[in-house]
Amino acid sequence: MTVSRYTCRICNSDDNHPTFIAREMMFGTRETFEYFQCNTCGCLQISEIPKDLAKYYPSDYAPHTQPETYKVHTNWFIGAMQKQRCRTALFDKHHKLNSFLKRFVDLPKAIHEKPSSISSVGEIIRTAGISSFGQPILDVGCGIYPYWLSCLEKLGFTELSGVDPLISCDQAYDRIKVFKSELRDIPGKFSLITLHHSLEHIFDQNEMFTEIEKHLLPDGVCLVRIPIFPSKVWEEYGTNWVELDAPRHFYLHSLKSIKMLANKAGLEIFDTQYDTTAFEFYGSEMYTRDIPLTEKCSPFFNENSSLFTEEQMNKFKARANEVNESKQAGRAAFFIRKKN
Ligand SMILES: [Zn+2]
Repeated sequence: MTVSRYTCRICNSDDNHPTFIAREMMFGTRETFEYFQCNTCGCLQISEIPKDLAKYYPSDYAPHTQPETYKVHTNWFIGAMQKQRCRTALFDKHHKLNSFLKRFVDLPKAIHEKPSSISSVGEIIRTAGISSFGQPILDVGCGIYPYWLSCLEKLGFTELSGVDPLISCDQAYDRIKVFKSELRDIPGKFSLITLHHSLEHIFDQNEMFTEIEKHLLPDGVCLVRIPIFPSKVWEEYGTNWVELDAPRHFYLHSLKSIKMLANKAGLEIFDTQYDTTAFEFYGSEMYTRDIPLTEKCSPFFNENSSLFTEEQMNKFKARANEVNESKQAGRAAFFIRKKN
């Protein structure tokens, strides 16, 4: 094992920490980057932030490309009835009206969409304790097309915004506003702030948590979904672990380091859900075979990929379920609120 002297950017531990070398494999440049694992808080972090970061987010980086069409509304009347049904499903209100309306309309599909492999949009909203469509919701690091916010809009939420400093310009999609900006420059406070796999891309983790605390309403909730370290996949695949995503992921938090970060900012984690998918397994398997994620044969982009047999893909799915249940997955969702 190689060790090097570094100061941890999460807990300030200045020590000889174990180091690892990871390769850029999303696009397959195979450039190498050193990471160190803090002896104290366990966070795996990139030793030096690359100077030319834009180079690692090319124009075809998936979260920064816009879909060709965007459409929310179908028939106005059906939409209004569905919104009423969502009110019952999400906020436990108006049960009588709901049992009448359910003869005419189904709940919109968006309520069952799963941004996380564990929880549907509806379950996330209920865990976060949101109680009306007018409560303000902000997604941090949403990319140019805010898929999660558009699911919420389809359900009836009206105060939706996103922020991402890496997109090309501000965007608006009906009621959703997306700002090319940093969280610190966004005015107002929110009932729900979400970070779906964006925290690990942000350099100053302490500042981000301070800003989250400042931007939460007193009973607000923040949902942070990130890769988590170590994990069963890390044990098996080491630096070929797809979630390492060098050099875009600066931090692969341990349970201890994410808790420390939250506590330092006056926040606490009140629910943790492990939510990995087959991707963690087949992606790591691809990197071990020296195949970049964006290769044409990749199941990540190509539904008809034959890189793995159906039986192998089913095994990856079963393993993902196993590690979620045994809490050894390499992805987790943390529900966070202000400390009392
Ligand atoms: Zn540390």
